[in-house]
Amino acid sequence: MANPLVSIRDLHKTYTRGAETVDVLRGLSLDIQAGEFIALMGPSGSGKTTLLNLIGGLDRPSAGSVSVDGARIDQLGSGALAQWRATHVGFVFQFYNLLPMLSAERNVELPLLLTHLSKAERMKRVGIALQVVGLAERAKHKPSELSGGQAQRVAIARAIVADPTLLVCDEPTGDLDRRTADEVLTLLQTLNREHGKTIVMVTHDPKAAEYASHRVFLDKGQLAETAVH
Ligand code: ADP
Ligand code: MG
Repeated sequence: MANPLVSIRDLHKTYTRGAETVDVLRGLSLDIQAGEFIALMGPSGSGKTTLLNLIGGLDRPSAGSVSVDGARIDQLGSGALAQWRATHVGFVFQFYNLLPMLSAERNVELPLLLTHLSKAERMKRVGIALQVVGLAERAKHKPSELSGGQAQRVAIARAIVADPTLLVCDEPTGDLDRRTADEVLTLLQTLNREHGKTIVMVTHDPKAAEYASHRVFLDKGQLAETAVH
């Protein structure tokens, strides 16, 4: 098998609160191949968001290594890590995190402001990303003028517009009703199957996890079991 896209070895994350230390991740190892769609599952407080943030370079481990596409991101300084994130990771959060004052297309454009692309090239890519999520006709709408499902699709367009190596999603359907959740999950599945996007999605919802190609279970900071379908 080819080298994994994401390779995690003996990962530890410890938080300190006053005199109390919490070992959230306790020696976790995991490989993710390019083209996989991973559902990261487990009870509340098991460390799912912590692990996702370490994979996406939002945080640094206490010990162990995280390699993505051959780069040891745990060894990058904060400036280099921010730069790495901008070009390698697209984030999708439970509550969309769109900027309310900006139209859909301006929100989607944001990651491209960190690149050297011209305005014309940026707007071309924004148009394509909105088309992929089926919202080209909502480009000028503000987030308050969108439904929850539409807002999440705009957030997904923003996450893919810079063509990142990895898409990381934290409970992306946690705030949506079943039917809207299924639409968003079908979109993620299409991005994975037809556009080849590698996706890591945290979810506590077994129905949502069925859309993924692989399921990984976290329990008390370690991997419990892995099912492959
Ligand atoms: P999950 O996403 O699986 O619900 P998290 O990764 O958010 O779990 O959190 C795992 C544990 O780590 C929880 O006990 C949480 O309280 C603790 N934790 C998370 N972030 C911090 C932080 N920044 N400081 C202290 N403790 C934290
Ligand atoms: Mg969480």
